[in-house]
Amino acid sequence: MLNIDLHCHSTISDGLLTPSRLIEHAALRGVEVLALTDHDDVTGLVEARIAAREKNITLINGVEISVTWRGRTLHILGLGIDPEYLPLQQGLASIRAGRVERARNIAAQLDRYGITGSFEGAYAFAGDGRLIGRTHFARFLVAKGHAKDVRSVFKKYLIKGKPGYAPHQWATLAEAIGWIRGSGGQAIIAHPARYQLGKNVLEALLNEFCELGGVGLEVISPSHTPDQINLFAHHAQRLNLFASCGSDYHGPGESYFDLGQLPPLPAGCIPVWHDWKIELALS
Ligand code: AMP
Ligand code: MN
Ligand code: MN
Ligand code: MN
Repeated sequence: MLNIDLHCHSTISDGLLTPSRLIEHAALRGVEVLALTDHDDVTGLVEARIAAREKNITLINGVEISVTWRGRTLHILGLGIDPEYLPLQQGLASIRAGRVERARNIAAQLDRYGITGSFEGAYAFAGDGRLIGRTHFARFLVAKGHAKDVRSVFKKYLIKGKPGYAPHQWATLAEAIGWIRGSGGQAIIAHPARYQLGKNVLEALLNEFCELGGVGLEVISPSHTPDQINLFAHHAQRLNLFASCGSDYHGPGESYFDLGQLPPLPAGCIPVWHDWKIELALS
């Protein structure tokens, strides 16, 4: 069976491995097809492509775009995008600019809570500083001893209702899907079970997503229970959407799934790579 993993992060966003190290790790894990899907940034794809060629891995150009839909944050994956497409690049740059503003708001709230220096502190964990996110705040807070690990620091400080949470307006669903489609890519809803949408709201999202030209659901994700995998496999089949699979790998010690260590898609799903005209490295 093809070893394919279509969701992971490098140091360009909030992963722990550089794009080259990530590819090396993927090769060790036997991954044959890998999509690098950094949050709101496509810069890592150049380095990843060079490394992937060396390791005989088929690299899919990807991105994970932050979206606000009906007041909720959603993540939309773009697969097979053209990273040079200007509207996509400009859109992502504006999201990253918004991240700096949000980071100031997060830091101001943590200040009020008595935790100072978190803006600079988070940036110290943010690689070359192109993109700042909550994970960088999480790593800073752990380093300062405010929690034992990244997972618990989110629960204590960084999720809605906690002292370090700042609401934020991301791109619209229409913008994200428009940039992805305009660049020749496929738009996929990342980890759909994570948003905990009720039946009606989920139906509204799926309908709007399809109308806007979205083509797939990430069925296999570490965020999903076996029941949720089956539920979203069912939704994908019902709506003629492709099914995708990804580890959402962020690096050693911070992820539930290792790269390429994914359960198979449920029977009856049409994989998102069904029509891809790529030379699959080893298949
Ligand atoms: P941001 O886009 O900056 O709001 O950060 C979102 C990222 O934070 C996700 O992609 C995950 O990497 C991480 N994250 C979100 N929620 C959690 C959580 N409960 N535990 C650990 N990491 C989380
Ligand atoms: Mn992340
Ligand atoms: Mn995500
Ligand atoms: Mn992700």
